[in-house]
Amino acid sequence: MHDKTIAQLAAGLKAREYSSEELTRAYLERIARLDPQLNSFITVTPELALAQARAADRLIAEGKAGPLTGVPLAQKDIFCTDGVRTSCGSKMLDNFTAPYDATVVTRFKAAGTVMLGKTNMDEFAMGSSNETSYYGPVKNPWDLAAVPGGSSGGSAAAVAARLAPGATGTDTGGSIRQPAALCGITGIKPTYGRVSRYGMIAFASSLDQGGPMATTAEDCALMLGAMAGFDPRDSTSVDRPVPDYTANLNADLKGLRIGLPKEFFGEGLDPEVAKVIDAAVAEYKQLGAEVVEISLPNSALAVPTYYVVAPAECSSNLSRFDGVRFGHRCENPKNLEDLYKRSRGEGFGTEVKRRIMIGTYALSAGYYDAYYLKAQKLRRLIADDFKRAFEQVDVIMGPTSPTVAFNIGEKTDDPVTMYLSDIYTIAVNLAGLPGMSVPAGFVGNRPVGLQIIGNLFDEARLLNVAHKYQQVTDWHTRVPHGFE
Ligand code: GLN
Repeated sequence: MHDKTIAQLAAGLKAREYSSEELTRAYLERIARLDPQLNSFITVTPELALAQARAADRLIAEGKAGPLTGVPLAQKDIFCTDGVRTSCGSKMLDNFTAPYDATVVTRFKAAGTVMLGKTNMDEFAMGSSNETSYYGPVKNPWDLAAVPGGSSGGSAAAVAARLAPGATGTDTGGSIRQPAALCGITGIKPTYGRVSRYGMIAFASSLDQGGPMATTAEDCALMLGAMAGFDPRDSTSVDRPVPDYTANLNADLKGLRIGLPKEFFGEGLDPEVAKVIDAAVAEYKQLGAEVVEISLPNSALAVPTYYVVAPAECSSNLSRFDGVRFGHRCENPKNLEDLYKRSRGEGFGTEVKRRIMIGTYALSAGYYDAYYLKAQKLRRLIADDFKRAFEQVDVIMGPTSPTVAFNIGEKTDDPVTMYLSDIYTIAVNLAGLPGMSVPAGFVGNRPVGLQIIGNLFDEARLLNVAHKYQQVTDWHTRVPHGFE
C-alpha cells in the first residue's frame, strides 16, 4: 500500500479495498522498522493515529467520507498539536505539550486524516540541512551519508522513504522546496497568506508559510485544498476563496510562457544540475510551452536581504522563550536575570543564538536604518523584479537548489556556504509568491528538483504545470533503494 499516492489511497479507502486502520498500521509498521536509519520523526503517535483511523473508517462506512478521509499524514513538528509534544526541533520546547491545535492541524482533522506523528526539523526551522535539530540530523533516504535538506527535512525524508504518503512543511526561505528537491519529492510553498500561520511556531512572521509535501503534484493539490483558506485567527491570512486545486491539473500547456531568469543559471550552479534542468525545460517545450529568457536583476541581493529580515523577526519572535511561561527552565536560578540567561543559553542551539544576535543587532537603535530599513527597501526591489517578469511570462523556472544533497557535516562549520543553498528559493519568500519543487532527475544517486515559481495566488497553475510534467516523466515515482 505504501507505494501508492494519496489520491490512490483515498480511492482504495472509498472502494473498501482496505480500511484506514489497516493502512495506518502499515505505515506505523514501516516507521518502526525503517525510521531508525533516518530519524525523520521526533514523535510517533500510534495510539492517536489508530483512534483517528477507526473514526475515519466509521465515516467511510456511513458514506460521509471527504476526499482525504482516512489518509495517514505526518505533521512537521512546528505545528502545535493538542496534547502532543510540539518541540520545533529545539531543546527549548522538548518538554512542551501544546494545549491547542494549529489551524492547519484542525483542518486536517476536519478532513478526516490520520496523524502518524511529528517530523524532525532544523531548530525553529533555521537551517538547510536538518543538522541544527536538537534531536539529531535526519539522513537522506537516497544516500544515508547525505543531508535531506531543511528545515522540513524530516517531512521530506519520511515521504521519500514512503513512511508517510504526505507531510506538512513550512517555508521561510526555501524549507519546503529545498528538502523536497534534495529528497526527490514534490512540495509547494503557497502565496504568503494562503495558509494560516495560527499555531505554527513563528520564525520570521512576514516570510513563514506552511504547505504540503508529497510524491506528486496531484497529492499536493489535495492537501493544499484542505490546508488553505482564511483564518480570522491569523491577521495576515487572506480572505479569498480557495479554488479546487485538482480541477485544472490536466489543462493543456500549449502556449504557456516559461521565463528562465539568467541569474538562476550562472556561477555557483552545478553544471550537472543545470543539465537536468535543461532537460526538464526541453520536456516542457514538447508539451507546447514557449521559453523566454528573463532577468531578475536584484537576485544577488536576496540572500543578504533575507539574512537581515529573517534574523530581525526571529529575534523578536523568540523573545517569548524565556523560561517563565513555558519551555525549558534552568535549574536553581539565582535571580530573574540568571533565570533568563541560563534558560535561553541552555535551551537554544548555536544557529538559533547566532540569528538572535544578528537580529537584535540589526534592530538596535543605531543600526536600524542601516540594516533593517535598508533590507526592507531591497525587499521591495526584489518583489518588483518578479512583478515585471510576470508581465511577460506565466511561470518562472529554474533549479530549486544549486547542488544536489551535500554530505552530513560538510557545511556545518561554514554558515555562509550553508545559506547559499537557498539562493534560488529565498527571493520567492521575500516577494510572497508561490513556489514549487518537482523531481526532475538525478546526479549520481542524488535527486534534483525543478523549481516553478508563480504569480500571487497562482497555485492552481503551478500544480497544473507540475502535474502535466509528471504525466510524461517518472522521476516522482522513483523510490530510494532499501525503502521499496
Ligand atoms: N534555510 C533557510 C534558513 O535557514 C530557510 C529556512 C526556512 O525556510 N525555514 O533560514
